[in-house]
Amino acid sequence: MSAKLIVFSAPSGCGKSTIISELRKRGMTFSFSISATSRKPRGNEQNGVEYYFLSPEQFRAKIADNQFVEYEEVYKDQYYGTLKSEIEHLLQQDTNVLFDIDVKGALNIKKFYGNQAVLIFIMPPSVDELSHRLHSRGTESEELIQKRLARAEYEMSFSTQFDYCIVNDKLDVAVSQVYDIIISADK
Ligand code: 5GP
Repeated sequence: MSAKLIVFSAPSGCGKSTIISELRKRGMTFSFSISATSRKPRGNEQNGVEYYFLSPEQFRAKIADNQFVEYEEVYKDQYYGTLKSEIEHLLQQDTNVLFDIDVKGALNIKKFYGNQAVLIFIMPPSVDELSHRLHSRGTESEELIQKRLARAEYEMSFSTQFDYCIVNDKLDVAVSQVYDIIISADK
């Protein structure tokens, strides 16, 4: 068995991070691919933990140097990308590698790694519910929330191209579904 690349995409606020921490609580082990981004850290985020935080100029220099497997300008001047060095390093261990990246990035990973990559899309029960969740999280401005909602609808239109699509309505159900997908990918 070789390590799989488990790629999660979900609109912001769909509970992706909660699902990932629940999988850990159920005893799943995986390494986590840390993306690079040019957005500013939010809350308690730290460089090298949630992301490698770069300036837009530093990010563009790495693009020019061909250091990314994939990258996207998800919002204007806010780049996100997966560094080749990160994947090469993580694949040396025999542990599944988890990715939390946007839809196009996910499809690019699939193009590159084929069946070694398992693409899972996490859906909100509805756009209204997503709006409610983003407002109650309270970490972003109204303008940014509206941008994220527009982005969410766009991302959801890609969900049919994923290997699996899970609706995060009841958390424990969604976690069990994802758990089963990962277990069967390992066989
Ligand atoms: P956030 O700012 O909420 O952390 O992330 C915003 C979006 O960027 C999310 O859709 C997230 O999945 C995406 N993203 C994070 N890392 C990467 C990456 O390495 N590549 C791509 N293409 N998207 C990413």
